[in-house]
Amino acid sequence: MNIFRFLILYSVFAWSQPNLLRNYYFPGNEEFNSKIPTPESVIGHQVGELHISHDKLLQYMLALSESSDRIKFENRGLTFENRPLILLTITSNENHKNLEQIRQNHIKATNENYDYDLKKRPIVVYQGFSIHGNESSGSNAAVLLAYYLAASESEYVESLLKNTIILFDPALNPDGLQRFSQWVNSNKSRKLNPDPRDREFSENWPGGRTNHYWFDMNRDWLPSQLPESKVRLKTFHKWLPNILTDHHEMGTNSSFFFQPGVSSRTHPLTPIENQIITREIGKYHAKAFDKVGSLYYSEEDYDDFYYGKGSTFPDINGSIGILFEQASSRGHIQESDNGLLPFPFTIKNQITAGLSTLKAAFDMREKLLKYQFDFFKNSREKGNLESNAVYIFKDDKDPVKAFHFAELLNRQNIKIYKLKYDTKIDGNFYYKSSSYVVPKNQKNNLLLKAIFEKRTKFKDSLFYDISAWTIPLAFGIDYTEKKKFKNIGESLLPTIPVGKLIGESDYAYIMPWNDYYSPKALYSLMEKNIRTKVALQPFSIEGRNFDYGSILIPVQNQKYSSSSLVKILDQISAKSNLNIYGVSTGITQGPDLGSNKFRTLKKPSIGLIVGEGIDSYDAGEIWHLMDIRYNIPLTKLDVSKILKYNLNRYNCIILPNSNNLDNSISEKLKEWIKKGGNLIAYQNSLKWLNKKDIFKMKTKQNNLLANNISFKDRSNFFGAQRIGGAIFEAKIDRSHPINFGYNNDKISLFRNTTIFIEPEKNSYDNPIIYTESPLLSGYISEENLKLLKGTIPLKISSYGIGQVIGFTDNTNFRAFWYGTNKLLMNAIFFRNQF
Ligand SMILES: [Zn+2]
Repeated sequence: MNIFRFLILYSVFAWSQPNLLRNYYFPGNEEFNSKIPTPESVIGHQVGELHISHDKLLQYMLALSESSDRIKFENRGLTFENRPLILLTITSNENHKNLEQIRQNHIKATNENYDYDLKKRPIVVYQGFSIHGNESSGSNAAVLLAYYLAASESEYVESLLKNTIILFDPALNPDGLQRFSQWVNSNKSRKLNPDPRDREFSENWPGGRTNHYWFDMNRDWLPSQLPESKVRLKTFHKWLPNILTDHHEMGTNSSFFFQPGVSSRTHPLTPIENQIITREIGKYHAKAFDKVGSLYYSEEDYDDFYYGKGSTFPDINGSIGILFEQASSRGHIQESDNGLLPFPFTIKNQITAGLSTLKAAFDMREKLLKYQFDFFKNSREKGNLESNAVYIFKDDKDPVKAFHFAELLNRQNIKIYKLKYDTKIDGNFYYKSSSYVVPKNQKNNLLLKAIFEKRTKFKDSLFYDISAWTIPLAFGIDYTEKKKFKNIGESLLPTIPVGKLIGESDYAYIMPWNDYYSPKALYSLMEKNIRTKVALQPFSIEGRNFDYGSILIPVQNQKYSSSSLVKILDQISAKSNLNIYGVSTGITQGPDLGSNKFRTLKKPSIGLIVGEGIDSYDAGEIWHLMDIRYNIPLTKLDVSKILKYNLNRYNCIILPNSNNLDNSISEKLKEWIKKGGNLIAYQNSLKWLNKKDIFKMKTKQNNLLANNISFKDRSNFFGAQRIGGAIFEAKIDRSHPINFGYNNDKISLFRNTTIFIEPEKNSYDNPIIYTESPLLSGYISEENLKLLKGTIPLKISSYGIGQVIGFTDNTNFRAFWYGTNKLLMNAIFFRNQF
């Protein structure tokens, strides 16, 4: 049906609500089983009339699974807001009876060189919708698709379900979908208004795209730090689907996009056949869209480079990932370059793509099964070429961080082993008790390579997302690669190291600052008003060495008796997975415990600036770090209200990456800093603070001029000068409090800005400085690399009796950059020691 015919129907629909289901979304001649409840009979409105809330979606999917023997309903876990992460398995009743056997056979074919069942094995398709909650045509279409698959009595659907296992994930981001539906429904007028300026189309900050802590979950398939991704990966690795589709929305003035994307930007580890098959599947989408009269395009704009995206992750796992992008009506109907864009039309296109995917899977079943079979066969052969090669990693001073990395590998179905015996590699000791060995010769060796590899050469200089993600660098752990290694012990399932109080004392306790959860433990102590001090120098006592930043807890003159203190410390060490040590004397080698080299700490009272103009991802990462990882409270101060607040109750305010905030806000912050406030500011906020004379910095500029660049190539030319996200090495001065808790004198930083701050004259004022060859992994233009060398990613600039602690780089990137979280925590806890 073309748009014009639709609009006639639509205007009728707006007043009298005819059966859209039969006449619009599905061809009129389809027979539906009347025992299956239609969406409107359960949710109380027709699909497309309002935006479905997650609550109602859940209600309908339950009703559907109760009435259909084609659907199995499963609750796999909860979001941060306790919404169920559901999965429907949709297939014929006969397959359901035999489902576990079918699954085992499917997996067997990825493990063995003989695919005995190719001719009759069902294909497995994972269909996922609206991972961005405010791209909701996907989830709304999912309601109708599920109904169709449960209710259609056509021969085709019966035959499709006999040959297909559909893993149906109707809402990849329940919290975001709920937030968005609430906004858009509550701003809907009864007389639909397509004016793009209407409030209906501009959500409140931060919008419904992200999850509860404002993460873009379509970047988390590889790092898998969020609950939504964790359960999804379990399903993925349990089933290894042949196709995985990811239904999104894009700008209102576009049409419909399906993959493949830009071919020069496909990750080199992805097999060439993957893109050939994606293109062949694309023909099914094209044919279906031709039939309904919708405009579409392919092979532009989007790419298949970063494996953290839902449509790219499958490509390194023997599957075919496909991205769909529908022009968004955002609200219920909106003006666009292509005329009026009604919400039901966007839903219809998503249904069309969902059905053309299933048709392609049905027709290409054997080919797709064979592709997956070959993928794993080839990957086994590649693995065999490196049969004794391994990665080995550890973190002696911070075993919890190494554990979290091992846990990530485990979530990706990567096998890990212990060492058989302690050993020395390249001058470094690796102990059996704390090291992890990862053989390259294993099933997911390509995925493993994608996690560990450092890449600095690229075919293209443009990236849809980041250009590097070398995960061991993100964790800042010690790791190495060995070509021939025989010292492999028993297999290992990562378990989090246990923390203990070691030795009761009437004198003092020492807590090292190297552990990942040291900040959590320190805040717990402060919350209980226990006095703490930080060691500005290393020392050894009673046979133990303690590094810079160790925390001293004297026993005398505390609020608690020494026996109560024992109980409290015992609990805190257990909850923070670290050891706290009792000592019986104040004499040390190095500064004695009563020395002025131990400085009293004050509890931080933290504000985080959020709201319009603030980068919600960066703000969310900080909120998540404090709330989920460290159990430290922070107050989210909205920029629109901050002028009314007395800021004196905060001794520390964090300003995430931001975009030109109002003058009145800089004046307000100025007053507060002048009187002793500590502002921790990130990225572009530094430029703004610099303009407002609050933060001093001199920067190097990239003044590249375009020579011989044509009009057509101008955006590629400038795009190549962006740092979309890459990893760089800096040297650190471990004696500076901003670096307390680090064991090595090099650090790996994630950078996605082009702010290059000139170093200070006195070297001690540059506690972190980029090395002379800083690029570790990822893309940077030659011009920018030259500028970056020897500049500083951190600058502390005083103002009045307060200060601004400025970071040019994101220390908390996407919750998986564990290695630099401590820089922020040091800025917070040791703010008075700089
Ligand atoms: Zn999207």
